[in-house]
Formats: sequence, C-alpha cells, structure tokens
Amino acid sequence: MRRYDKSIALYERTKRHLAGGVSSNVRYASTPVPLFFARGEGARLYDVDGNVHIDYVLGNGPAILGHAPRPVIEAVARTLADGQVYAAQHPRETELAERLCGLLPGAEVVRFATSGTEAVLMAMRLARAFTGRDKILKFEGHYHGWSDQAYISARPSLNEAGPADEPVPVAGSPGIPASVLQDVVVAGWNDLAALEAAFERHPGQIAAVIMEPVMVNGGAVVAEAGYLAGVRDLCRAKGALFICDEVITGFRVGLRGAQGRFGVTADLAIYAKAVAAGFPLAMVGGRRDVMDTLLDKGVMHGGTYNGNVQSMAAAIAALDELERDDGAVYRDLERRGTRLMQGLAALAAKHRLPMRVQGLPAIFQVFFGGGPALRNYREADACDRDAVLAFQRALQEEGVRINPAGKWFLSTAHDDAIIEDTLAAADRSMATLR
Ligand code: PLP
Repeated sequence: MRRYDKSIALYERTKRHLAGGVSSNVRYASTPVPLFFARGEGARLYDVDGNVHIDYVLGNGPAILGHAPRPVIEAVARTLADGQVYAAQHPRETELAERLCGLLPGAEVVRFATSGTEAVLMAMRLARAFTGRDKILKFEGHYHGWSDQAYISARPSLNEAGPADEPVPVAGSPGIPASVLQDVVVAGWNDLAALEAAFERHPGQIAAVIMEPVMVNGGAVVAEAGYLAGVRDLCRAKGALFICDEVITGFRVGLRGAQGRFGVTADLAIYAKAVAAGFPLAMVGGRRDVMDTLLDKGVMHGGTYNGNVQSMAAAIAALDELERDDGAVYRDLERRGTRLMQGLAALAAKHRLPMRVQGLPAIFQVFFGGGPALRNYREADACDRDAVLAFQRALQEEGVRINPAGKWFLSTAHDDAIIEDTLAAADRSMATLR
C-alpha cells in the first residue's frame, strides 16, 4: 500500500489556516486527503511522501506540454528580471495577439484575461451589450467557471433539474442569488429540437448560446455530427451569438481547438488552460464588431494581471512548441491517446468490466454502466460514479493519477513508453476490481 503520511499531516496543518485546506473546491476530491506534491516534471508528479504518479490530471488541463516544460520555463525565466505587471502595454502582448488571430478560427481580435471564469464573464457581457438582450442560454452539465452568472446547472442534481426537455436553471452553490436565474435559460445538449424550443419560449431575449464544444465537465461527450453547425445556424437565425467555451478543448483537441477540429466557427470563443501551458492566462477571441463594443460602447473589462509579462512569454513559447513540425505534436498526441483509449477498452473487456472509454484522445473519460450511448449530461450522470472512484483509487495505488470523475488529460510528455506503463498499471488495477 502506498503511504501518504506526510500529505495527511500537511493537510491537517493546512486546514487550520487555509479554508478547507485547499485553494479550489475541486481539490477536495482526492484520497486519502488532498495530496501534497513536491514537484512535477514531464508526465510525472512527485508527492511529498516520495510516491511517483504518472499524471493524467495535468492541473485539469493546462499542462499540455507536461509539467515544467523546458522551452516554456526558460522563456519565462528570461523575462523575470524585466518585471511582471506594468499596468500598461508591452510588445509581447502585441506579438501574442497577432499570432493568436492568425491561428484561431474566427479570432479577428482577442482580449486577454487571467482565468477562464473571468473570460466567460467578459464574453457574456460582450454578447449582452452587442445584442441588447439579457438572457444567456447554457447547456445542462456544461461548466463555465464558478461565477454567479455561470455556475448554474453545471452539475445539477436531477431531483431539482426539472424535465429533460425543459430543464430549470439550478444555482450550483449557496450564495448565488436567485435573481441571476432569471437571465439564464438551460437546455439539454446535443439536441437541436430542444434548443429551438428554448428559443421559441424566449423570443428575442437570448443574447448568446454558450457551450463546451466537446462536453467535458459533465461527462466527456463529443457532439453528434451536424450539431455544432446546427447550433451556429439557429443562433444566426435567432439573432443570438454563438459562444464556444474552449477553455478545455483549446490547444488540446487540436491546434485550432474544437472549432478547428469540427469545422465550425463561433462568434466568440474563450480559451484558457493549455494556451499558456500552465501559466495563468485566459482570453476571448472573436468577431471584430462584437469585440469592438469594448471600445464603441464602453463595455467594461479589466484585470490587474491581464497580459502580464510572464503569461505572455509562456504562451508565445508554448505556441512555438505546439506549432512545431506542421502539426506533428497533435498527430502524436492523437496516436498515443488513441492507443491509450483502445488499450483501456481492451483491458476492460479482458477483465469483463462494464467500462467504456469516451471522448477524444487528448481528453477522454471512463464510465461504468450507462446506456448504449452517452449523449448528454443526464445520460452520463446515470453511470456508476462509485465504480469510477474505485478504479481511480486502484490506479493511484499503481502510480497512475486520473481525475476522480474518470477523466484523462494527455500531454506531449506522455510518450509511448509511458502509455505502455500506464496500460500495464491499468491491467493490474482492473484485476483488483473484479
Ligand atoms: N470553462 C471551462 C470549460 C472550464 O473547464 C473551466 C475550468 O475548468 C472554466 C471555464 C473556468 O476556468 P478557470 O478555472 O480558469 O476559471
């Protein structure tokens, strides 16, 4: 049995002065306690008890190049003595904005922020200012940060969520005022008829439709063929903006995110996480006429750390890496992730476990049970969470770290040998589950 004595002692000590002992609620879900790590390098994390973990959590997405990627940390290190924040512009912002606009679908203009939560708030405000409408339509099970306006029906209990064809908005936390629910419309994802019906119920009132273009947070589900384009077309027909929250998918499911992969362009898109390979950076990019409301209509957007020197340097260096060899990075990521997904599915069959592997090679999820296809949050939610947790714990014992919901993030540092080691560990883990 792996021992976590130092993590346990540190957690007890930390809880006394750091609320809950963690800096983000999602970190509670770890066994036996929120673990303490000493360092990370490449695909591996080293905890304070000396345990080594092949890490498929990757900070919940940012570490697309693995932990402490040399080219990025060296580029950042070269800037440290130049200062961090100027409350003014600097040329690296210009360079990064130019490169991102040259690369990302539909990004005529970008604006930098520091976290995905804030960038979502900016996009929603822009949409409201541009359209003169107040309501935002979001999908059940999609997570767009923890703000009052967005943390709604992200993971609702089905007792409160109303019927599938007309879900009621559910505040995700105590402290979210009921008043914000008036401006949120919730629909089931992957269902164009449901979206159309929601538009009919709120004619001329919906400013924007926001979605994770691959649902990840509510259970990894890829949109059905034609769905993303159908949403875009419906938005156009109804005068609403289409916002893609690419915080997870951006720079992960492809260099040009989910929009590039599936050939659909949103009016606005939000990126964070992998864009700066572990440094804090988020952004909104999109149509010039919409983004121009920042200036034309005086739409407020601020942030002390926006465009800070180190995040800009990190993102430029990360882009240099991700763009190398004409897409070779993503071809490798795809090949290795496919091997991992297929290997896990084969092992599940060998051990006669009712496990399925679903998603895309660079971000996928394992589910136990459920119907023949998982198309949306409710179907994903019906799966057996305890079985996933048992698998996650068994993997941790074998030195493989996945998210407690069963999600696997891949990085370029997970080479072929690491994938094979992981599959061997999964084989041993599954043997304990039978
Ligand atoms: N949007 C999506 C799709 C996310 O997955 C997340 C975070 O996990 C966010 C927004 C919020 O980003 P942040 O945690 O940087 O505030």
